[in-house]
Amino acid sequence: MQKLQLTLAIIKPHAVKNPIALSYIRNVIKNKFVVIKTKRVSLDKETAENFYKEHVGKFFYNRLVTFMASGCIDLHVIGHSNAIELWRRLLGPTKVYKAQFEEPYCLRSLFGISDTRNVAHGSDSPTSAEREIKFFFPDFSFYDWHHNDEVVYRKGPIIFNDFLFQHVRRL
Ligand code: ADP
Ligand code: MG
Repeated sequence: MQKLQLTLAIIKPHAVKNPIALSYIRNVIKNKFVVIKTKRVSLDKETAENFYKEHVGKFFYNRLVTFMASGCIDLHVIGHSNAIELWRRLLGPTKVYKAQFEEPYCLRSLFGISDTRNVAHGSDSPTSAEREIKFFFPDFSFYDWHHNDEVVYRKGPIIFNDFLFQHVRRL
């Protein structure tokens, strides 16, 4: 089995508030990835602006950061040999109408309600994944994780802790 790659999944506020959407999305995550870290947070606008700073100046920037600061979001650091691409493929196209037309069963198609409220975020490259995971989990060391933990999450023994919504080492 190939080494695990990590990515950051963020479940956006409208999906966190919708129990049907949230349980469906969580099942997809749990069935396809190992879940390394999970945390629910509520962002202030400044933190949301900072996270999305690559989009400063775009017409949707203000509505995006206002929306992301409007309620709780769920952060998941997830692992798979092809985590970045797989999670983005499961999400589908950024724009919900395009998603519904082209990929009716992707997550954005099933639970998206507008181009801004498009269910979830996924890092778009290894560099962004590292930056974004560090942004929300400043204590997380990629070096330590790849050297000490990766093999355990890849080969086991691990079990899924439903309460934490994370895989943990089986002692
Ligand atoms: P993705 O989330 O698919 O990587 P982008 O990085 O281009 O997409 O955009 C970041 C987020 O900004 C999107 O997930 C969506 O919430 C919002 N967004 C992007 N394009 C638009 C748009 N045309 N209209 C409204 N919101 C948008
Ligand atoms: Mg993006």
